[in-house]
Amino acid sequence: MLCIYCGEREARTKDHVTPKCFFPTPRPSNLITVPCCEVCNTKYGKDDERVRNILTSLATTEDHHAVKEQIAEKRDRSYTRVKGISNFQDIVESIEIVARYTHCGIYLGKAPAFNLDQPTMDRFVERIARALLYQENAMEHTACDFEWKMAPDDATLNRMPPVFKAVLRCGKPKEIGEGVFSYVGYYFTGKAASLWVLNFYGGIEFMVKVREKFHRSDSS
Ligand SMILES: [Zn+2]
Repeated sequence: MLCIYCGEREARTKDHVTPKCFFPTPRPSNLITVPCCEVCNTKYGKDDERVRNILTSLATTEDHHAVKEQIAEKRDRSYTRVKGISNFQDIVESIEIVARYTHCGIYLGKAPAFNLDQPTMDRFVERIARALLYQENAMEHTACDFEWKMAPDDATLNRMPPVFKAVLRCGKPKEIGEGVFSYVGYYFTGKAASLWVLNFYGGIEFMVKVREKFHRSDSS
């Protein structure tokens, strides 16, 4: 079969989703693998450490036991290796100084934060969504638009219309590796759109909307 990522080349290898380096050892037995070509495997593999390092450097994920026990050390070591200088460059480029506010809008000053709005994260989120569409829905490579953002927190969710709230809370997450990665998919076979909620280390959540390009009704 063809690679589920590019749809162009024969799938001669398997890609791990979420990447193996996200998990402590011993690794869980239910890791997801999907068929992909050697070119995509190498290309995406380069993002793995960078994305893991960012996702485990957030205030909301650093307390996860996998991060505390193993991943934090691996992350920190990846910056001091001989090749670490390029990783360090990556991290510097990912940091931006942002204004911080409390819930009621009081200005707290400026602080460094990771900029998640960057091509590496776009590639990563699209790859995970494609892999889950294959895993859950047997969907081979299809031309799709991917749109993602941080999933709403509970306070935001509570202000949303009940129907939206109901949809986003009705799914039962599938979990891989004690909360290292969990996801919920809202999809129906044959439908051209799906919604995915991806959670990493119990502390950061992305919402991904996938729309097939050729099924799309021309209402937009
Ligand atoms: Zn490929």
